[in-house]
Amino acid sequence: MYILVINAGSSSLKFQLVNQDTRALVDKGLCEKVGLDGSFLQYGIGDAEKTIDIPLPNHHAAIQAVLNAMLSTDGGSVESLDQIVAVGHRVVHGGEYFSGSVVITDDVINRIEECVPLAPLHNPAGLMGIRACIDLMPNALQVAVFDTAFHQTMPKKAFMYPLPYEFYENLSVRRYGFHGTSHRYVSERAAAYLNKNPDELKLITCHLGNGGSITAIDGGRSVDTSMGLTPLEGLMMGTRSGSIDPAILPFVMKAEGLTAEEVESIMNRKSGLLGISGLSSDLRDVLAAAADGNERAQLALEMFAYAVKGYIGRYTFILGGVDAVVMTAGIGERSADMRALIFEGLEGVGMVLDSELNATGRGEREISAEGSPVRILVIPTDEEGVIVSDVLAILQR
Ligand code: ADP
Repeated sequence: MYILVINAGSSSLKFQLVNQDTRALVDKGLCEKVGLDGSFLQYGIGDAEKTIDIPLPNHHAAIQAVLNAMLSTDGGSVESLDQIVAVGHRVVHGGEYFSGSVVITDDVINRIEECVPLAPLHNPAGLMGIRACIDLMPNALQVAVFDTAFHQTMPKKAFMYPLPYEFYENLSVRRYGFHGTSHRYVSERAAAYLNKNPDELKLITCHLGNGGSITAIDGGRSVDTSMGLTPLEGLMMGTRSGSIDPAILPFVMKAEGLTAEEVESIMNRKSGLLGISGLSSDLRDVLAAAADGNERAQLALEMFAYAVKGYIGRYTFILGGVDAVVMTAGIGERSADMRALIFEGLEGVGMVLDSELNATGRGEREISAEGSPVRILVIPTDEEGVIVSDVLAILQR
């Protein structure tokens, strides 16, 4: 029997199929350009990987294509859809309704629908994925795992914005935070690595990918996080500005005659590493250009590290001290150069990086120097793994 994990983005759909008993990965893949021209499906593991061009007008078609590929006589991974006992869906926004993963019912679907205004690109895609799976696999248990759920433990002083209180009451304007499955997973792995109970630890987890967020975790509970009402707040990211003076918006709108949608799009798609370097949102390109002497690329790197350092400092104070800082996601796991920039000069506050350990090694590991008062860990994230664990926990209830 198998568990299917579905991660539906606005124009993509990723999936993984795992064995329910061994948790071994049986199949994985993605549909790109869903709803657009040139859509294709990629699936299979290792040498068996295949790519097929196929029209995917919507997420229903994408899921149908994934299931057909799994069932195909030509090396398909399942014989019958009845072998899929449960489907775990990543859902970006659960608002204040969900503080954990849940079995999807009509009521849950209505609540996810209610959160669409808070995540207008992501939640509709998630809902389409859920509806398609219910339609195509009516006997499988459907489970929703929310990006926002882990952060529901934040105290009110951390999640409220200092705006008129009615914005919260009438419009649900507050900090929600994202990447919750990743922050939760790496914090649990960090506790295991340090051989401690999560209850006894104060951690700062840095999820640095194309999107990035940092979370303060006290005793296993998220107490603050850098993303807010939307994933635009906080760190400078690949194409997102992160936090800026909010008065810049009306200023540039008036000066350049831009609409609200246009400035929102600029802050989401044309800012961050891309906006400053003028070259790329991909850290590898920016690192290469900086090494060639490109000054704007160098500035982008320094600004990125500066933003991360600032949040590590802020959360060290908010937590009243920290046991370990955890680095994860594409940049956090793989860029020794960026990690070195982030921790440069932090020896005086007890965060001592070992440059040799930082530059070498793979997988879960410690990169702080022996005796460093604050430990620094690299923990590869596994958001799909969390979804499988949550589905298994619900199946065993
Ligand atoms: P997403 O948020 O899309 O899941 P990832 O977690 O895959 O993103 O992170 C993507 C980022 O990680 C990109 O900026 C990419 O340049 C960076 N990255 C990946 N591998 C490396 C590497 N070896 N060195 C430096 N940066 C890397």
